[in-house]
Parts: sequence; structure tokens; C-alpha cells
Amino acid sequence: MITKQAQSYAAQAATSSLAPFGIARREPGPTDVEIDILYCGVCHSDVHQARNEWHNTVYPCVPGHEIVGRVTRVGSSVTKFKQGDLAAVGCMVDSCRTCSSCQAGYEQYCLSFPTFTYNSEDKHLGGHTLGGYSTDVVVDEAFVLRVPAGMDLAGTAPLLCAGITTYSPLRHWKVGPGQKVGIVGLGGLGHMGVKFARAFGAQVVLFTTSPGKIADGLRLGAHEVVVSKDAEAMKKHASSFNFILDAVSAQHDINAYLSLLKLDGTLTLVGAPEHPLPVEVFNLLLPRRNFAGSAIGGIKETQEMLDFCAAHKIVSDVEVIPIQKINEAWARMIKQDVRYRFVIDMASLKK
Ligand code: NAP
Ligand code: ZN
Ligand code: ZN
Repeated sequence: MITKQAQSYAAQAATSSLAPFGIARREPGPTDVEIDILYCGVCHSDVHQARNEWHNTVYPCVPGHEIVGRVTRVGSSVTKFKQGDLAAVGCMVDSCRTCSSCQAGYEQYCLSFPTFTYNSEDKHLGGHTLGGYSTDVVVDEAFVLRVPAGMDLAGTAPLLCAGITTYSPLRHWKVGPGQKVGIVGLGGLGHMGVKFARAFGAQVVLFTTSPGKIADGLRLGAHEVVVSKDAEAMKKHASSFNFILDAVSAQHDINAYLSLLKLDGTLTLVGAPEHPLPVEVFNLLLPRRNFAGSAIGGIKETQEMLDFCAAHKIVSDVEVIPIQKINEAWARMIKQDVRYRFVIDMASLKK
């Protein structure tokens, strides 16, 4: 297979910082789109993966799955894109396309596992896939999204993971007018969850551990912000929620949120902390509550989400950084000091 060289930032081991690293990208095949990466969002999953917190990382690890860029070349059979178009790539670059999940548009739940944008088997070059903290990427057009005209590109990048990961469960559990909905954790995912739940017409309550984020929570669309360390404030909301979306990246007391659900209410986890979260069973039994999870979203739904964002003028609130500041940005994200997504300006890697 013919390849070309690209630049990236990679972690060589669980304990090492990210540093410049030359990688190979394949020459575009007939159905491939080559994308010059303009912006890449910084997801907490990048940190979990690079530091082997999910115990499956292959090194060197090039993170990044919130990619927006410009098409530089397309393969001979590509129909959706042409050179010069804007394009986006999220957490997946392929799947089996034939199983019941793929056929239903749930490529993220592919029965053979999707090929993730990083840390999956690379079926073209061998080895493993390398993500968007890089100058360019080559992806089959079936997994490339269209960027609607007029969107702010840095603010659009995080929609490819933080956006779809919150949009999809809010849609699946039919969040809308007349419902009381909680969002837990005001980070990259959480701030998109607040925006979408509000846009869908729900009564939105944000739960945060950071009193300094109250004003932002209200500005982003929450009707009320509760500091979760305040036991009295939590108690006032007991057994009152239809739906709660938990987007916390670390260990926390899940039972405190289960007890806020009303009869038949659902708590859905999208956060993926390293260790198990113990559940007090009586919090599920009385009164009959649901505890669920959700992962990103399918390709069709991701396009629907991008089009919804364009129509409703929704983008992420971002702090744009040069890639040379990535280790600092990770340290700040881990300290809950992100407002509310770091996005890498990839021009900084091309100098
Ligand atoms: P993030 O920007 O770092 O936000 C996480 C937020 O969780 C923080 O801002 C903080 O909010 C809260 N938090 C952090 N540590 C906490 C602690 N010790 N106790 C209580 N709250 C804490 O992360 P993200 O990028 O949004 O990702 C969130 C999680 O979702 C990660 O685990 C990530 O891997 C996972 N994820 C899952 C999917 C999926 O498909 N299911 C997709 C993407 C990401 P406050 O300051 O407001 O408390
Ligand atoms: Zn992500
Ligand atoms: Zn499949």
C-alpha cells in the first residue's frame, strides 16, 4: 500500500506526554476522502485512552476524534465530496456495514465493533488507527460528514463527539417539552447536553461540582444550576426527574442521581470513568427506575445533529489552542478547568 507522511502528536506510553511524531497515511483509494485537518477538538476520552485508563491502549497513540477540515483529494468513486469541500470526521472511520446494528444506522454498536478513529485495527495499513491530532487523515466517504455552510469551524469540531454523544441519548429517550431533565458535569459533553436539552424544549437542571460554573450553566441554557455538594439543594429535587444524562469523567456517587429520578425515569451514563460505579439496588427498585448507557451516535444521526446545529445556530463554546499547548490543556481539563472544549488549531502543526 502506498503511503505518505503526516505529522502528529502522540503518546508513546501511558505515562508519557504528547510529543511530535511522524506517521504514515494511506494514499486515497477509490472511496476515500483525504482531509487537511483544520481543527480537532480535545475530548476527555483522548486522555483516558492515551493514559491507558481503559486498559486496551496500543502505542504509539495519536488521539483526536473531533475533526473538521478541508478535502484535498477524493478517490475515483467518491460522490459526496470534492476537492475544496469542508468535511468532518468523528469517533468512527468504518464498521462492518452488514450486521443488524450497521443496517439500522447504529454503526457505533456494530456487532463486529466499529473501526474507531484511533486505537482500532487499521484494516488498510496494518497496525492501529491514528487520530486527528495530526495534519491530515484519509477516511472512507461513508464515514465522512458534511459541514453545513456558515458554521464556525472551531466550534463545530466538538460536535463530532461531544455533540453527537449528548444529542443521541436525548433524542432516543425523547426529551422534550413538559419534561424535567438533568445534566451532570459541565465539561465538553455536559455543556452540549445543556444546549440540546434546552433546544429540545425540556426544563433543564445542571448539576456541577464547580460553584464557579453556575453563571455559565445558566448562560448556556440551564433553567437552574445545582451544586451537587449541597445536600439540601439535592434533596429538593428528590424523585422529580424524567431523565438525567451523566457526563462525568471520574468516580462519583451515582446513587445521589438515581434517587432524583421519578417513577420510570431514566439515568443514562455517557461518561466513561476508569473504575466501576457501585449502584445501590434499592435506588432502582423503589420507585422502578432505569439505569442506562449510550455511546456516540450513528453516521446518519451525526449528520442530522450537524444540520440541527446549523439550523438552530448551535456550536460548542471553545478555547482554541496551538498543538504545542496540548499537555497543558489536558492538565486543565483533568482539573475541571475547561470552558468548555479545547480545540486545536492544526495550522500550529503545519508550520
Ligand atoms: P470533561 O470536559 O473533562 O468534563 C467532565 C466533567 O465532569 C468536568 O468538567 C466536571 O464537571 C465533571 N467532573 C470531573 N471530575 C469529577 C469528579 N471527580 N467528580 C464529579 N464531577 C467531576 O470531559 P468530556 O470530554 O465531557 O467527557 C466526559 C466523559 O464522557 C469522559 O469520561 C469521556 O471519556 C466520556 N465520553 C463518552 C462518550 C460516549 O460515547 N459515551 C463519548 C465521549 C466522551 P463539573 O466541574 O461541572 O462538576
Ligand atoms: Zn470523544
Ligand atoms: Zn456492523
